[in-house]
Amino acid sequence: MPDRGVGKLGTLLVANRGEIACRVMRTARRLGMRTVAVYSDADVDALHVRTADLAVRIGPAPARASYLDIDAVIRAARDSGADAIHPGYGFLSQNADFADACAAAGVVFVGPGGAAMRAMGRKDEAKALMRAAGVPVVPGWQGDDQDDANLVREAERVGFPLLVKAVAGGGGKGMRVVRRREELPAALSAARGEASRSFGDARLLLERYIEGPRHVEVQVISDRHGRCLHLHERDCSLQRRYQKVIEECPAPGLSDSLRGRLHDAAVRAAQAVHYENAGTVEFIVAGNEGWFLEMNTRLQVEHPVTEAVLGVDLVEWQLRVAAGEPLPERIAAPRGHAFEARVYAEDPRNGYLPVGGRLEALHWPDRGVRIDAAVEEGDRVVTDYDALLAKVIVHDATRAQALARLEAALLATRIEGVTTNLAALVALTRDADFRDARMTTALIDARGDHLLQPLEAQRERAAQLAAGALLAPAATAERADPWAARDGWRLQGVSETVARFSMPGLGSLVIDGGTGRAPPADPGTVEVTADEVRVWLDGELFRLARVAHGAPAAAGGAVGRVTAPMPGAVLDVRVAVGAFIARGQPLVVLEAMKMEHTLRAAAAGRVAAVHVTAGQRVRDGEPLLTLEGEDAT
Ligand code: ADP
Ligand code: ADP
Ligand code: MG
Repeated sequence: MPDRGVGKLGTLLVANRGEIACRVMRTARRLGMRTVAVYSDADVDALHVRTADLAVRIGPAPARASYLDIDAVIRAARDSGADAIHPGYGFLSQNADFADACAAAGVVFVGPGGAAMRAMGRKDEAKALMRAAGVPVVPGWQGDDQDDANLVREAERVGFPLLVKAVAGGGGKGMRVVRRREELPAALSAARGEASRSFGDARLLLERYIEGPRHVEVQVISDRHGRCLHLHERDCSLQRRYQKVIEECPAPGLSDSLRGRLHDAAVRAAQAVHYENAGTVEFIVAGNEGWFLEMNTRLQVEHPVTEAVLGVDLVEWQLRVAAGEPLPERIAAPRGHAFEARVYAEDPRNGYLPVGGRLEALHWPDRGVRIDAAVEEGDRVVTDYDALLAKVIVHDATRAQALARLEAALLATRIEGVTTNLAALVALTRDADFRDARMTTALIDARGDHLLQPLEAQRERAAQLAAGALLAPAATAERADPWAARDGWRLQGVSETVARFSMPGLGSLVIDGGTGRAPPADPGTVEVTADEVRVWLDGELFRLARVAHGAPAAAGGAVGRVTAPMPGAVLDVRVAVGAFIARGQPLVVLEAMKMEHTLRAAAAGRVAAVHVTAGQRVRDGEPLLTLEGEDAT
C-alpha cells in the first residue's frame, strides 16, 4: 500500500507526451504521487521525460509503434509498478480497447470506462443516443447504406450546404463541406480516404452545415456514486481547419436560457452513457439554438480556462474520481473570464506549415499568466507529432481585461529558432469581431492572408524602428561604441546621421535619419546588441545585422548591386553611370510608406550601371544600381 498519493493510487503513468504529460505530472507530484513517463525514440530528450520520476521507452518514433501501441504502454505500466494511467488527449485517450486493457491489467484508467467510450466513440451512435435522451442534434442522415447513390439521395433530403463527416472522426479529420450537389461525389471519396487512413473506418454521415456558427462546449465530470456536475461552458469558435486556436470561459453573450439548456443537455448526455470522470459535450450554436455535435470522453486541450474561472484543478478531480472519491455536491460560482491561446510550431506566413528546429531562445511572460509548455529553451522541436509548443492561459475580472492580458502576454513571449503562430495569435487578439465577441467558426478562414500585416510592410516598419533606435538621442550613449552605426558626414555643411544594417528580404540598408519624418510611435520592442538590431513586432522577430563604419552594407564587398530595400517609388537618382562615389554619398532616394529614404554608398567606388529612373515604381529587392569597388577601377 503506498503511503502517499490519491487513495490507493501511488504511482501514475502518463501515456502521452508534450504539454499535457508535463501538466498531468505536475498535479500528480503535488498530490504526492510518483510519476512515470513513456517515450518514443523521437522523445528521448523531451521535457516530459525529464519531468517524470521514471521514464520508459515504448518504441520507435511513429506513434503507431509507440504512443498508440496498447501492449507497449501496458507493459511499461506493469514494469514501473504504476497503479493508474492518465491518457491525456489524442493518442489512446479515446480508445475503448485501451481502457479495457488497463482494467484487465489491474491498472486504474483515469477516464471513463470502455463502454461509455464506445457509446460516444462513433458520431452516428452518439447522435442516436442523444436524440433518444432528448438532446437536440444537428439534423442530417446516418445509416448503414453507405453507397454513393444512397448518400446522394439522402444529401438531397438534408439539403445544401451540408457537411460530410467520418463517423469515427476526431481532430477535424474526414470532414468536407459540400455547397452544391455536383461537389458531393468528390467530397465523399476524399472524406472516405481520410477517414480510413486516420481511423481505419471509412463510414460517413451527413449533417446540415450550419453557417457562421459558434462552437460552445460544456465540461462535465461524474463520479462513480451517481453524481454528475457540469463545470460551465467554453467557447472555442476560433478554429482553423476545425482545430481550436483560442478558447475562452465562459462563452460570451449566450442567453441564460440557451446556457441553461446546454448545461442540462450535457449532463443528460453524460448520464445517458453512465459516464464516469471528466468529459466534454460539444455543441454547435447559432442564434438561440444549440445542437449536440459529439462528446469527447477525455480531458480537453482547453481545460485550463475552466480551471481558471472555477479555481479548480481538473486533473486532481480526475485522479480523485478515479480513486473512487465522491465529487462535492456543488461547485463555486465561476469568477471572471479566461482565455487560452495555443502556440504552435508552424508558419502562418507559409500556409501554417509545421516547422521543427532548435529553440535557441524561449522566454515566457513571468507574471499574471499560466504557461503549460511542452518544451524548454534549447529543446529540439520534433515534427513527428502534434506541433503544440505551449498554451498561454490568462484570467482576469472581465472579458476585455482578460483579452488585453492575453495580447500583452503574447507580445512579451520571445521564441527564437523555430517559427511559431505567435503573430497570428496576436492579430486575433486585436480582431474587432473577436473583441466584440462576434466571432464564428468561420472567422479565421475569412481573414485568410489578411490576418497578418503584409511581410514587406512589417520588414519596413522593423527597419524604421531599428533606425529610430539607433538614431534616437537616447542612443548617444553608444557613441563610444565603434559598432554604433552613427556616422556624421558634412555634406554641404549639413550634419547627417545614418543607420546601416542588412536584413534578409530587405537587402542591405542605409537609413537616413535626416530626411524621413520620425516614425510613428509603435508598439514594437527594439533590442540593440553589438552586431545586430532585433525588433519584435506584433509577435514576430526581425533581425537586422549591423554593419560597421566603412564596411560595405552587403556581404561580399562593395562590389555589387544596390537593391530596393522595400517596395516604393524612386524619387531621385543622384548618380550617373561612371561616376566615382565616396562612402556615404547619396545614391538613390526612395519613397515608401510615406517616408523618404536616402540610400547611400556603403563604401567608395564607381557606378557601373543604373537600372532605374526617377518616378519608377520598384519591387522589394529590385536592383537599382550596380557598383564597382575602388580597386576595380
Ligand atoms: P480538443 O477539443 O481537446 O482540442 P481535438 O479534437 O482538437 O480536441 O483533439 C486534441 C488532440 O487529439 C489533437 O492533437 C488532435 O489532433 C488529436 N486527436 C483527436 N482525435 C483524434 C483521433 N481520433 N486520433 C488521433 N488523434 C486525435
Ligand atoms: P471532431 O471530432 O473532428 O472534433 P466535430 O464534430 O466536433 O468533429 O466538429 C469539429 C468542428 O467542425 C466544430 O467545432 C465546428 O467548428 C465544425 N462543425 C462540425 N459540425 C458542423 C456543422 N454541422 N455545421 C457547421 N460546422 C460544423
Ligand atoms: Mg470535436
